[in-house]
Amino acid sequence: MSFASLGLSAPLLKAVQDQGFETPSPIQAQAIPAALSGRDVMAAAQTGTGKTAGFTLPLLEKLSQGKPARSGHVRALILTPTRELAAQVSDSVVSCGRHLRLSSAVVFGGTPIRPQITRLRRGTDILVATPGRLLDLYQQNAMRFDRLEVLVMDEADRMLDMGFIHDIRRIIGLLPESRQNLMFSATFSDAVRKLARSLVKDPLEIAV
Ligand code: AMP
Repeated sequence: MSFASLGLSAPLLKAVQDQGFETPSPIQAQAIPAALSGRDVMAAAQTGTGKTAGFTLPLLEKLSQGKPARSGHVRALILTPTRELAAQVSDSVVSCGRHLRLSSAVVFGGTPIRPQITRLRRGTDILVATPGRLLDLYQQNAMRFDRLEVLVMDEADRMLDMGFIHDIRRIIGLLPESRQNLMFSATFSDAVRKLARSLVKDPLEIAV
């Protein structure tokens, strides 16, 4: 099994190689082709399984095939429960996307909001965000979601544990109906499955 056989193009294969990844991890081997095919994905994967590149690689591949974000628009939103995770996911987006011309931004609370508003008004292909700050920015008209193509939810179980369910429901309500959804969670509890039912359509379920 090689990254090339998963359907990734040269700029992404090069970035994978730059990072020293030789073979896809089991979650990557399953999630990458499914996400590239346009299907919704629901994956149960713990930290350390390579789950992050399991969504950043296909996301970057798909976005590289379309037109860059217009000013003020977001093409893909990655929601994470914490600042630390947002920063890690953003690092993966930057590392995996280094040979592509896609733009990304990361926003979370506890830092000044004005520079984030200025950044988002330029438009961004990929936005990594924590839920509370995302809603604050939306209320300040920092960005629009009507051209959003993909939603990724990382560590969905932790988001629920941290009490973000209302924020998440509000955010989902801002997004266009027609979009691809990639949902990752360490566990699929009843609460996570309930959220999934309102989020993903005919998903490919993956467990590693
Ligand atoms: P994650 O589970 O996404 O937090 O990733 C755990 C660690 O594994 C990160 O440091 C990644 O850089 C690394 N990693 C991800 N995919 C691979 C791979 N296919 N081969 C080797 N290391 C990887």
